[in-house]
Amino acid sequence: MSNMALALSRDVLQGMQHFRIVIQPMVSAESGNVMGGEALLRWSFEGNDISPEIFIPMLEKEKLIQSVGRWVFDQTACCCMRLVTYIPDFYLTSNVSLQQLSDRQFTSFMKSTMEKYHVDGSHLVAEMTESCMDEQPEELFQFVNDCKAMDIKIALDDFGSGYSSLRMLLQYPSSVIKLDRSLLREMTESEDKMNFISSIVYACHRFGKQVCMEGVETGVQNALIRKCGCDMIQGYYYYRPMEIDDMYRLASIRFSNVQQNGKQG
Ligand code: C2E
Ligand code: CA
Ligand code: CA
Repeated sequence: MSNMALALSRDVLQGMQHFRIVIQPMVSAESGNVMGGEALLRWSFEGNDISPEIFIPMLEKEKLIQSVGRWVFDQTACCCMRLVTYIPDFYLTSNVSLQQLSDRQFTSFMKSTMEKYHVDGSHLVAEMTESCMDEQPEELFQFVNDCKAMDIKIALDDFGSGYSSLRMLLQYPSSVIKLDRSLLREMTESEDKMNFISSIVYACHRFGKQVCMEGVETGVQNALIRKCGCDMIQGYYYYRPMEIDDMYRLASIRFSNVQQNGKQG
């Protein structure tokens, strides 16, 4: 582990060596078409990808997540610039750790990065977990307000994975709610649980929030979740996280299909 921690710090300090971004598409629950995606960080150590669940906490512990978070945002904006040329209303989300809220210059960095790549904030979404939203309210509100001013949306990630409360859910300053995949496991068990998810979706919609279901893996889950009224779906059933070039290819195919349909219609 200490070898790994050393290599991780070295790779960050040497210009993000062995790091890359992959993208997992999100589809419309109604049509199954790709609408957006989530940028996910990858790091390889001795030739193998290490789970972010291992190396992200290490980056947080080593206080490196702020500089890594900036790099992730830069890569996200860069990929987004290209994807929007194929799918004009495409959006790309990226994850923001709690510690990044203490990076006072983060939002001005985001602004200059968006200018560098000529990407409008309406194509970007910052994902934050509940723990992010519960702590440091002042820093959170500053971040949220700065994002709002840049037209960047906030998504509440992993809802339902901990002691989530519906009251808080509706109060958090987010316009998208991502339901954790642990809810899916419960949902397929009984009709009551499925009604429970439908109620969450209904409440979110009443408060003007969109809902994305994460972790849909099977046709059965997909059929059930589509009945619950979710707006977006992200899961292996549709797409696994893919290398950036594969994502560009997928978007360009969607672009040609839309053009062809346009010509026929
Ligand atoms: P997350 O933000 O909840 O990201 C979704 C995770 O669920 C991804 O795992 C994705 O591969 C996985 N997933 C998607 N669909 C399915 C499915 O159908 N079934 C199953 N079993 N899993 C699915 P990944 O890429 O391993 O990332 C794990 C976590 O690491 C992320 O969870 C996020 O919390 C964190 N992470 C990843 N990239 C970043 C980053 O750039 N910054 C920060 N701060 N955290 C990141
Ligand atoms: Ca996420
Ligand atoms: Ca999540």
